[in-house]
Amino acid sequence: VKGMVRKLSENEWEIPVEHIPNMRVPGRLFVSESLLEGIEPGTIDQIANVSTLPGIQKYSMAMPDAHLGYGFAIGGVAAFDVEEGIISPGGVGFDINCGVRLIRTNLQKEEVVPNIKRLTDELFSNVPAGVGSKSRLRASDKELDSAFLEGARWAVEAGYGVEADFEHCEANGYMEGADPSQVSTKARNRGKPQLGTLGSGNHFLEVQYVDKIYDQEIASTFGLQEGQVTVMVHCGSRGAGHQICTDHLKELSQAVKNYKIEIPDKQLACAPAQSKEAQNYFKAMLCAANYAWANRQIITHWTRESFEKVFGRDADDLGMDLLYDVAHNVAKLEKHIVDGRKKEVYVHRKGATRAFPSGHPEVPAVYRDVGQPVLIPGSMGTPSFILCGSEESMNISFGSACHGAGRVMSRAHAKKEFRGQSIKENLEARGITVRATHPSVIAEEAPDVYKSSSKVVNVVHELGIARKVAKVLPLGVTKG
Ligand code: 5GP
Ligand code: MN
Ligand code: MN
Repeated sequence: VKGMVRKLSENEWEIPVEHIPNMRVPGRLFVSESLLEGIEPGTIDQIANVSTLPGIQKYSMAMPDAHLGYGFAIGGVAAFDVEEGIISPGGVGFDINCGVRLIRTNLQKEEVVPNIKRLTDELFSNVPAGVGSKSRLRASDKELDSAFLEGARWAVEAGYGVEADFEHCEANGYMEGADPSQVSTKARNRGKPQLGTLGSGNHFLEVQYVDKIYDQEIASTFGLQEGQVTVMVHCGSRGAGHQICTDHLKELSQAVKNYKIEIPDKQLACAPAQSKEAQNYFKAMLCAANYAWANRQIITHWTRESFEKVFGRDADDLGMDLLYDVAHNVAKLEKHIVDGRKKEVYVHRKGATRAFPSGHPEVPAVYRDVGQPVLIPGSMGTPSFILCGSEESMNISFGSACHGAGRVMSRAHAKKEFRGQSIKENLEARGITVRATHPSVIAEEAPDVYKSSSKVVNVVHELGIARKVAKVLPLGVTKG
């Protein structure tokens, strides 16, 4: 791919407008020289394809964890003018508001290690996981509507947590404007039994400990110290979000023709931002986004109960507060400065995390002096990171950073390459307990299927998009 890009700086590469016909703006890839080697040519093409879409601002971007996705690359960020631009489901992804949250505890590593097998088992049995897994919650139609409309706020009102929880979520755990009438019966039927489930594969619930603090001051604002145990939750909107994406893709595949928008790839189906079709998708997308926040909230509640059972103490007493919750597959209407002027844009983050800096009104008051927490998972055998949104994100990436380490090996390839049982034994020998519904899940999710999380976060750190605050290491992982 080296011949396809032009080096701008140590961590910035341009995909020139000559790469394919009709590019409106250049592409920009944020990677180091060594990560560039792992980027597939197809990913570069996808970044370029997005730059042909109407109303795109500045450049079509991809973060250092970038890899091939549906239409848009995963790790992709693109902002579109609110009037001249478009909205595209491919720029959000099938798992709408897939995201990550981090729960603190006041437990030390030494207190948890002797109990880690029991704790992991407890979490595995309390939080349903697996492809078609069903929830213990059995949501009614009314509850489903509440989840669609009020996200984590509803879940807290329904008894799954405390008010401080949704106050520590991006967007306070729900976005306004959701419209359940834009959600099909099929999507409702898939979503109802799954509200309160983790899902499969890449989704996880992980007990970790803080191995290293990089920034003492921000760490103390985030309530983090070396040796402290944390819990990371990664999941999204389950079958509900997937079906909503599928349904509206069908509509938008027709709309893109009706509005005569030329797209270089069918997977980039979209419609003018203010069209009925695009707005209907957006209203349904918001339902899925809110559902995902409710889902992570319910899982948090069961996580607290699991700790209470194992440690015989109250979750409050265990200091199990929510540090933060970020969405990494979502489109949002935001204000950004483009060419020196503040304007409204639809920012699509697909496998990218918002990374607003200090002073931004959307950063919760407790973090406003430092910037929002940015939560970056690594893998079940490598470090995950907590970063803090930083100034440059507003200048170079529409307030966005990476979302993970990013895949380098397909699931199919991984299943041939690795045996789940031996990966599990290797991890256990390193003190990491793993529970999964099937050994093949462990093979598909082996640490080596992902890029180096350290290399990836170093790029966003060096660019000043988000700064490293803490490194956490896994102790016990439950996987679908
Ligand atoms: P995605 O949302 O694209 O599926 O994945 C987000 C990121 O989560 C991946 O890029 C990978 O770095 C990370 N990840 C996947 N599985 C695990 C896990 O079991 N534990 C941790 N800490 N990170 C994981
Ligand atoms: Mn997901
Ligand atoms: Mn995800």
